[in-house]
Amino acid sequence: MDTVRIFDGHNDAVQFMLDYRSDGRDFLARSEAGHLDLPRALEGGMAGGLFAMYALPEHEPVNDLTITHDGYEVRYADAVHPDHARRQIGGQLSAIRKLIGRSGGKMRLATSVSEIEAARYDGAFTVVLHMEGADAIGPDLGYLDSLHDAGLRSLGIVWSRPNIFGYGVPFAYPRSPDTGPGLTDLGKDLIRRCNELGIMIDVSHLNERGFWDVAALSTAPLVATHACAHAICPSTRNLTDRQLDAIRDTGGVVGLNLAVNDIRADANLEEDTPFDAVVRQIDYLVTHVGADGVALGSDFDGAVMPRDIRDASGLPHLVDAMRKSGFDHSTLQKFAYQNWLRVFDLTWPDR
Ligand SMILES: [Zn+2]
Repeated sequence: MDTVRIFDGHNDAVQFMLDYRSDGRDFLARSEAGHLDLPRALEGGMAGGLFAMYALPEHEPVNDLTITHDGYEVRYADAVHPDHARRQIGGQLSAIRKLIGRSGGKMRLATSVSEIEAARYDGAFTVVLHMEGADAIGPDLGYLDSLHDAGLRSLGIVWSRPNIFGYGVPFAYPRSPDTGPGLTDLGKDLIRRCNELGIMIDVSHLNERGFWDVAALSTAPLVATHACAHAICPSTRNLTDRQLDAIRDTGGVVGLNLAVNDIRADANLEEDTPFDAVVRQIDYLVTHVGADGVALGSDFDGAVMPRDIRDASGLPHLVDAMRKSGFDHSTLQKFAYQNWLRVFDLTWPDR
């Protein structure tokens, strides 16, 4: 059985690269904590991934989860100040650079498809820079250009909170993702500037009206780096059938989020989530978006994973489960690796 190389569309591991938040973890050393470090990534067949920089809130939020009679809702998070967000992103960017420098060539920052392919050929692990939420970018968009110069190739307009560009969904189940207004005028400017620079736009966490604004404006394929099907698990974070159709029609990609609460029909935060539930989501997404439009967007180090996968080293078990349930080799290769590269190639100007 030949190995399936994996490129992952989303992780939150960057927070554990920061000295003050690392909890003693070092990305270059194998840990049992969390989900992702270089040794476990390589064990799992990962060739690289989109690494999310993300502005942590100014104050740790109190636990605002309310259990309702049929699900849950989380109080809508406050906006963060752009100056605060920019300090955070600057710190994370330098932490990633330091780590890559320390890796002695085992890790590389890639800004083009040819760099990803070259790294794969050389056996180096690829980091592609993503930012989850444009909170650090001011109205003149100048910081977007600076980040692009620094290697940013993918941008989520919002996390699940508001900013000057748009409105993220509050976390809730069962509920429609149509939770508020669409993009602001600045948000529309941001979409145009991302298209000009060739930065991939990620609709994950964006509410439904914002999604349709991106769909109407963007000249690039529509991409959700980490989401699941709303028809199976009706959480605000998941994509409706109409959204999946729109992604398919633009030749876009959905990265399957392994977060158990977005996979499971009952949205329970339950590690005992069998492969059947994960494969059911993949099956549904492939039926609606097509084999060319479904990839992996694990959310490692940002969500509760199914126990059978556990962490990045467990990804081959997911590939096996897909194979056993009838996915052919070509679909597996597309899911694991090729679809991300295809959409990068269509979105980024530098080949
Ligand atoms: Zn996320």
